[in-house]
Amino acid sequence: MMSRSESLFERAKRVLPGGVNSPVRAYQSVGGCPRFIKKAEGTYVYDEEGKRYLDYIGSWGPMILGHNHPEIQEAVIGAARNGLSFGTATEMEVQMGELLCELVPCFDMVRMVNSGTEAVMSAIRAARGFTGRDKIIKFEGCYHGHFDALLVKAGSGVMTAGIPDSSGVPKGCAKDTLTAVYNDMDSVRTLFEDNQGQIAALIIEPVAANMGVVLPEEGFLKELRKICTQNGTLLIFDEVITGFRLGLQGAQGAYGVTPDLATFGKIIGGGMPVGCYGGRREIMEMIAPLGSVYQAGTLSGNPVAMAAGLKELSILKEHPEIYGHLEELGETFRSGVRDILKKHGAKCQITGTGSLSCLFFTDIPVTNYEEAKTSDVQAFADYFHYMLDHGIHLAPSQFEAIFFNNAMKPKDVDQTLRVMDSYFALKE
Ligand SMILES: *Cc1c(COP(=O)(O)O)cnc(C)c1O
Repeated sequence: MMSRSESLFERAKRVLPGGVNSPVRAYQSVGGCPRFIKKAEGTYVYDEEGKRYLDYIGSWGPMILGHNHPEIQEAVIGAARNGLSFGTATEMEVQMGELLCELVPCFDMVRMVNSGTEAVMSAIRAARGFTGRDKIIKFEGCYHGHFDALLVKAGSGVMTAGIPDSSGVPKGCAKDTLTAVYNDMDSVRTLFEDNQGQIAALIIEPVAANMGVVLPEEGFLKELRKICTQNGTLLIFDEVITGFRLGLQGAQGAYGVTPDLATFGKIIGGGMPVGCYGGRREIMEMIAPLGSVYQAGTLSGNPVAMAAGLKELSILKEHPEIYGHLEELGETFRSGVRDILKKHGAKCQITGTGSLSCLFFTDIPVTNYEEAKTSDVQAFADYFHYMLDHGIHLAPSQFEAIFFNNAMKPKDVDQTLRVMDSYFALKE
């Protein structure tokens, strides 16, 4: 007998490429049938057969307060009663803009869009418009959404699918994209020396969370800030994951480095499709209708999406203790995992900060993409299925993060650690 997920997956594969609307959901790198999720509440997701899983995906970040938060649900329903979309200016967009500019250090002005991809694409255009230059620097293993110019060594999705770069990207689109090595200032300096006066922007995930979780080494972000300023290059932090996860000020607050522009997504939509980009006033004043950089969106700043995001951000702002709780969950998890790895002699690396973690199945410390790629993805797949069979819902890829949320309690972490302990005991 097929499970409901299996029969849905069969149907899905006939009409959706790979049976999914975003590749990593298809379980390609871990094998087996994705669980079709019917509902979610707090720390749990429930599949089509009603089986419950402790969820560490959290919709890839937005569910930082836990699933189906009652206040967010209420805000969305309230907004929907007034109409789903007007295509006009609304008060909620002003409130969202004010809140974001108050909290995000680099934001003088902000533009709302509908996804992280759109945010990054637009920020790059703004940087090119502002500087009058074409070239951009990105880092191997950092993902910035699926738009052409940045689909170069782009981390999790492409790593998991085993495609080096995407086909369908015209050579011309990627020719101005230069790639540097994460945590390697020499690789950055070389690019600046070889392309003097030509680099519009350097974009980075200030904590890389799409090649597994890789932290910036001490001083790395500060050095990037310095070299960008020296060269008239805009520094862009892609905070689509780190924004409102590493604290109310994102990674720029946590590391004390202020970029010229930053992009957000995921958490700021509270589960709705939302992104934004913003930064220094003189750059943002280049955006239409004020300036010559064109960027638009029929549903941008949509009232239902704004209601969800505004409520989520307001709760985070009013309850800064949430970040302490998340930090504690993350630290308890990481130290528990370290003990388990030691006890069973398992050759894995546990990385992370705050509510972001990753277990790499490799025996070398991971500080960049090449090192992340030494991970044994078969071993990860085996571990992934054991966890899933024991009710723990992890992202189905070695190169994705483990996300903690505020609905989790220490006992949830303990339960997860017990399952991990029994797994590594079996493998000893
Ligand atoms: C998810 C992600 C994006 C893309 O956001 P979408 O909403 O999926 O388009 C961009 N940058 C980073 C760092 C991300 O994690």
